[in-house]
Amino acid sequence: MAVIPDARHEIELRQGAYVGGRLVDVGGADRVAVVSPRDGRTIGYLHAADRAFVDHAVAVARRAFDTSGWAGAPMRERGDVLVKWAGLVAESARDLASTVSLEMGKPVSQALNVELAAVEKCLRWYGELAGKRSDALLAHEDSVLAYSVEEPAGVVAAVVPWNFPLTMTVWKLAPALLAGNAVVLKPAEQTPFSALLLAELGSRAGLPDGILNVVNGLGREAGQALGRHPDVDVVTFTGSPATGRAFMNYSAESNGKRVWPELGGKSATVVLRDADVRAAATSAAENAFFNQGQMCSASSRLIVLDEHADEAVAVACEVAAALQPADPLDPATGFGAIVGLDALAGIEEKVADALEQGATLAAGSSRRAVVPGLEGGAYFAPVVLDHVRPETRIAQDEVFGPVLSVIRVASEDEAISVANGTRYGLAAGVWGRDVAAIHRVTRALRAGVVWVNCYEEGDMRLPFGGIKESGFGRDKGADALHKYTDTKSVWMRLDG
Ligand code: NAP
Ligand code: MG
Repeated sequence: MAVIPDARHEIELRQGAYVGGRLVDVGGADRVAVVSPRDGRTIGYLHAADRAFVDHAVAVARRAFDTSGWAGAPMRERGDVLVKWAGLVAESARDLASTVSLEMGKPVSQALNVELAAVEKCLRWYGELAGKRSDALLAHEDSVLAYSVEEPAGVVAAVVPWNFPLTMTVWKLAPALLAGNAVVLKPAEQTPFSALLLAELGSRAGLPDGILNVVNGLGREAGQALGRHPDVDVVTFTGSPATGRAFMNYSAESNGKRVWPELGGKSATVVLRDADVRAAATSAAENAFFNQGQMCSASSRLIVLDEHADEAVAVACEVAAALQPADPLDPATGFGAIVGLDALAGIEEKVADALEQGATLAAGSSRRAVVPGLEGGAYFAPVVLDHVRPETRIAQDEVFGPVLSVIRVASEDEAISVANGTRYGLAAGVWGRDVAAIHRVTRALRAGVVWVNCYEEGDMRLPFGGIKESGFGRDKGADALHKYTDTKSVWMRLDG
């Protein structure tokens, strides 16, 4: 374990893997330095699992699935474990939040109040769902009894990104575990430590040994090994479209396992003629910049009528000015670091390209920002680009950084066609007052989630996920259980 001395409070980082209910060394693994984007310093090492280690973790998961009694236990009992886990997460929320903040650079206050709050809520919500479900009887006659039951699929591999490392993780784990599966989790290489702590708390809450395993490693090796594994039944994935498709290939080339991809987005905020322009532009900018813009559902395009555009841009610039990069570990910070220097260079390049393509810089800069005292960190101030043309790269490709593109249109019909004019379809925001217009536009938008006069709202009941190249996996909601179960239909003659 490594102690982080310069954190505002001391945290012990777990390293290695978590298999069979304990922290283990990954024998012979490459040690990859994990660098905090806060200051560029190494905070610990990723013990990168190879294929043989992944095989071992899957075998442990399979054995636990077959023999631990977890899969056959009443769902209520599994739910009780999730509820207890939620309580332990709440007790350890500060350590978890500081770890996430160090790993990937988000402000520690948001790690605590947004991310960890969501993790606790998710575990508790699925745990409490357990006692409220019943399987339906299909036929109930004197001579026939027919029913279908949902049985756990078996071994689930969960492969997740770094931007909401623990939230994305429990969105997969809670329903998969509640359904009775064993899980092998591969966190992103940037965020290996927080996942180990989360798994340890799961064991303390009562998960049988081997039911939740964490394999830290690189995507192309450990991730691929899970994707191709013949004894993995389900892959549940959040990340980039390219990797999501790679998992579909791995499946096709191995055992045809089911793959649930939740991929990127290029979400639009559409401002209708009678909208409160200030509220709409504030929301679009805040939700383009939240988590340093590293959000699959970031509201990265603001689509406004010409008559509203100047006001909308001015408001977005006010939001940008109020969010300047600062030390993620300072509890007062509202805008932290970009996940790493490579990602930062990609953002700089995309903004520079947009300017070459004719966009104008209304706020921010195409160059990195420097936070005094943290010169080795990866910082980038929020950018507002005006006069963005919808066909240019900045308006088509995911930036995964704090960049808002303002696209000016002449009519609401043009707004809809621009909003729908990317290969993504994750989320959208609509702002207006006329209910009929809002309803018409909401129906016309090709997105998995539409927020009206708000953004990023909802609760655990509301499924989250996209269409088109944003993938088709849906997290949250009671239906997510079915991603991790198989239906068994039973038709029983009683008169023979
Ligand atoms: P990524 O490169 O696709 O990585 C996601 C996960 O897949 C990581 O654990 C990664 O491991 C692993 N991986 C990478 N390449 C792999 C391969 N060839 N085979 C198997 N596994 C592989 O995505 P990211 O850059 O970390 O995250 C940003 C992306 O995620 C964005 O596109 C964003 O929109 C999307 N995202 C979507 C949602 C959603 O809910 N729809 C939420 C958050 C993020 P390594 O860490 O070793 O690379
Ligand atoms: Mg990666």
